[in-house]
Amino acid sequence: MAIRVAILSQGHDGRAKCVNAGTCDLGCATGAKASVDLTYWPILEGQGIELRTGCRVREILVNDQGMASGVLYHDEEGQLQEQRAEMVVLACNGVGTPRLMLNSKSKLFPDGIANSSGLVGKNLMFHPLSGVVGLFDEPMEGFKGPGSGV
Ligand code: SF4
Repeated sequence: MAIRVAILSQGHDGRAKCVNAGTCDLGCATGAKASVDLTYWPILEGQGIELRTGCRVREILVNDQGMASGVLYHDEEGQLQEQRAEMVVLACNGVGTPRLMLNSKSKLFPDGIANSSGLVGKNLMFHPLSGVVGLFDEPMEGFKGPGSGV
């Protein structure tokens, strides 16, 4: 899967350029490194998008045709709410995704959505991560510069 790893080499759109401090792991204090909050959210704000924080989806609703039609979720006060939707995007990684699929039981999907095989949640796969570490005779100043893909 492609991920956004662009890092600004000069200031752009109110964001500062990379200072090559090499402190990037998750997030970037200067705003040089691409991340959803910095690169996508400002574009989406004011375009009818609403972010509801402190909420947790309980299950995905399906219509009589077996298509996702919304969600039931707990709001930040814990109250159960229903949100209808034309489209539902399920992207909760290796634990959250099967949790929701298995929670989403209905007449059409008594064992949860997309679970006719019964394998949902049985072969758990986490976010893969790879890295390389080496030892060199000379100092490589490996702490300098931004990391990529994180
Ligand atoms: S080194 Fe990493 S954290 Fe520091 S400014 Fe560059 S991208 Fe951001």
